[in-house]
Amino acid sequence: MEGPRDDEVLVRLVASGICRTDIDFSDDWDKADGPVVLGHEGAGVVERVGKRVKGVKPGDHVVLSYQSCGLCHQCRSGRPAHCTRLYELNFGFQRPDGSNGLQRSGVQGHFFGQSSFATYSLATERNLVKVSKNLPLDLLAPLGCGLQTGAGTVMNSLNVSRKESIAVFGTGAVGLAAIMASHLVKADPIIGVDIKPKRLKLALELGATHVIDNRRQEVAERIAGITGKGVDYVVETTGNPQMHELAISVLNPHGVVALLTGEEGTDALPEGKRTLGIIQGDAVPQHFIPKLIKLYLAGKFPFDRLVKFYKFKDINRAIADAKRGDTIKPVLRISKAT
Ligand SMILES: [Zn+2]
Ligand SMILES: [Zn+2]
Repeated sequence: MEGPRDDEVLVRLVASGICRTDIDFSDDWDKADGPVVLGHEGAGVVERVGKRVKGVKPGDHVVLSYQSCGLCHQCRSGRPAHCTRLYELNFGFQRPDGSNGLQRSGVQGHFFGQSSFATYSLATERNLVKVSKNLPLDLLAPLGCGLQTGAGTVMNSLNVSRKESIAVFGTGAVGLAAIMASHLVKADPIIGVDIKPKRLKLALELGATHVIDNRRQEVAERIAGITGKGVDYVVETTGNPQMHELAISVLNPHGVVALLTGEEGTDALPEGKRTLGIIQGDAVPQHFIPKLIKLYLAGKFPFDRLVKFYKFKDINRAIADAKRGDTIKPVLRISKAT
């Protein structure tokens, strides 16, 4: 790996969460395109910083998140999740100038500006968040993508209010973060939908007022039974086209479906209904991650209940467990914090 450039921060990784995007990329990767380093929920200790880096110094603890350019209109208006270069900076496996800090090893890095399935990462100040040294870095790792996305969708993108009704389709890490956030903003009812009884049980413990087992119960009918009509919001995390259609069908007039699956939204729906394609819960990591940590410490965002730790060498077992749905949020332990 090259040393950090002027604007880069070399981070020794302590842990990395595994997110569905890592698994999808791994499954769909064309081997002809050569090896890449995935991973985008890293947390670690700053080892070295480039000359222009002011915000962190060696020894600081950091959580890594998605990358943005900092220069475009969206970034400068405080909306880095809508950065015009978002796609290339997070999925392009290269720096903004097209170079690759791992080139000498014959692999491509810079996935989400971090490539955190590794012992070291080249990040920048734009995609890292300094955190207290008193907190366990391995636990904080998954805040950088999945948990931020689920919670941010409810608190930022949809701005769900007290007494509004919400259904969350899919109760994986992103869906459960959305349920915890819905509970925080006092939405009511909060309806979790999944096909895994174990996850539905956890959803109830984390704030869902009702759960629906999609294999046994007619979802639309149950929702109508609970609310007397439809719901104001649906957070769709499954990526299943039938669930997408179902989400629109159970929506109240002026309701919104949040699509967390990479799909684009549309506004061509009757009764003022909308679907929104949401990226990273419209979160600015430097603001939102510290907020989630504060809520966690106050017992209001108990995301530790989703996490299971694995040794780095057991990454394939962690992925298999996540795919089967046995583990909600796998986190790899890569090195010791001190
Ligand atoms: Zn930008
Ligand atoms: Zn992710």
